[in-house]
Amino acid sequence: MTTTDATTTATQLRPGRAETDRLAARVAVPREGRERIEVRSPLNGEVLGVVPAGTEEDVAAAVARAREVQRRWAATPVRERAAVLLRYHDLVLDRQGELMDLIQAENGKARVWAFEEIMDQAVTARYYARLAPRALKPKRRLSPVPGLVSTREHHVPLGVVGVIAPWNYPLVLSVSDAMAALVAGNGVVLKPDSQTPFTALRAFELLEEAGLPSGLVQVVTGPGRTVGTAIVDHSDYVMFTGSTATGRVIARRAGERLIGVSAELGGKNAMIVTDDVDLDAAVEGAVVACFANTGQLCISIERIYVARSIADAFVERLGRRAQSLRLGAEQAFGPEVGALASAAQLEKVRAHVDDAVAKGARLVAGGRHRPDVGPLFYEPTVLTDVTPEMDLYREETFGPVVAVYPVDSDDEAIEQANDTEYGLNASVYCGDPARGRAIAERLLAGTVNVNDGYASAWGSVDAPMGGMKASGLGRRHGREGLLKYTESRTVAVRSKLAARLQDPTGDQEGYARRFTALLRKAKHLPR
Ligand code: NAD
Repeated sequence: MTTTDATTTATQLRPGRAETDRLAARVAVPREGRERIEVRSPLNGEVLGVVPAGTEEDVAAAVARAREVQRRWAATPVRERAAVLLRYHDLVLDRQGELMDLIQAENGKARVWAFEEIMDQAVTARYYARLAPRALKPKRRLSPVPGLVSTREHHVPLGVVGVIAPWNYPLVLSVSDAMAALVAGNGVVLKPDSQTPFTALRAFELLEEAGLPSGLVQVVTGPGRTVGTAIVDHSDYVMFTGSTATGRVIARRAGERLIGVSAELGGKNAMIVTDDVDLDAAVEGAVVACFANTGQLCISIERIYVARSIADAFVERLGRRAQSLRLGAEQAFGPEVGALASAAQLEKVRAHVDDAVAKGARLVAGGRHRPDVGPLFYEPTVLTDVTPEMDLYREETFGPVVAVYPVDSDDEAIEQANDTEYGLNASVYCGDPARGRAIAERLLAGTVNVNDGYASAWGSVDAPMGGMKASGLGRRHGREGLLKYTESRTVAVRSKLAARLQDPTGDQEGYARRFTALLRKAKHLPR
């Protein structure tokens, strides 16, 4: 079956080499004696820029520099730290054009999905700027017996947080978590993916323009095995986003050092479509949920379980919509589907689709590499008749490929959706929101969106986001996405009265009697 012919190709990419060279000079790695990493744009395969490959010594030096600046930053009032994020919020909105150029040039995504990253930056910057002064304020805590001890909980920054990021959301996954760590009073050492270093470099430059002290964030480029490992070995906490396999390696290593890790990992996310659904809304929702960001989104949908009574109609319409999507390499709004980010991604997607088709899956739409648009373009693909022998039945494809399965009941849909080692995101499309909520509450996923694919839960930054089972450890977003970058210090001041009452070395019977009475009185606490 053929897919859309409405395609466009890239002309001269923005930014040019002078700008990427300028940004590369901000990497915390000396040029002399270091290997060079060529960054090629997925839009046209040409070299966008060059960054140096850091070493373990480079990471150690970067962490030490960040640590020095961090001491002053930790002593800066939280409101001043938060004000930096609010100024950054405005800068990102003002300079969105140049940031989207960078994101597109190094990741290959269509511009509309680059704009998602701009929105995320603004929402996250605003949220943590507003939350931090309240959430980090020392809090009164209940003492064992009221009035005898005055207890406060303080939130102390950890020091230098290591952020290890993948290539699929170069702005969001490098900078949003860093913002929470920074406003909590930490320094940051970031390793962006070697495919996408320039967006993060530009974003941290904007944060400095907004008032972040120079040197507080250090960006070290280089291979995961050396630079990533060294970050785990030298920083005080690791925020990792990437594959489950790498997450396990990092968690083991961090465990040896007894430092904390937050890991946002892979998924094989399911959507459930019930028989009372508005079919057009469900199809439109599935198009975005499956093909946004060329499907290279940890929370995108790769499996759809549809009520059998509407399955044929759903598949037919979804196939038609997938074919109507416009592939394009231009750095302008218009195309809905961009390039895959690398040759490795293209190979993975091709291998999954070819394997499924060879074993009997039916290709409803897509299934073709499109070098006529650009070297790494692949059509949005819809499959049915997928069986457990096919690789994509269980494995994450991380591309624009979805398998649709008919089911006979909500119970069956829930059982199928939960039958995976992953538990990152899920979606329910349903006519009755109460039924949707009831299904959502039985799904083993860190986020569930009712009548949406992924954006509603992700965008609710006041609520935690992360994975159950093999999809992660810890959460980003919400209060816990901030407080995880702090250690609590409990300070308890004993009153003079308490000192007198609490003398277990004098009249021991009197001491036991007094405290028995006090404990009886305090039974209703905390309220
Ligand atoms: P990856 O694990 O290969 O790489 C991610 C980062 O880790 C890169 O910067 C890489 O250089 C680094 N790295 C690699 N080996 C390392 C090691 N041994 N020690 C330290 N760092 C190391 O992942 P990827 O293939 O680049 O990204 C795609 C995966 O990320 C998918 O599985 C996707 O689902 C997942 N992802 C998850 C989320 C989420 O929020 N849960 C978001 C985006 C992507």
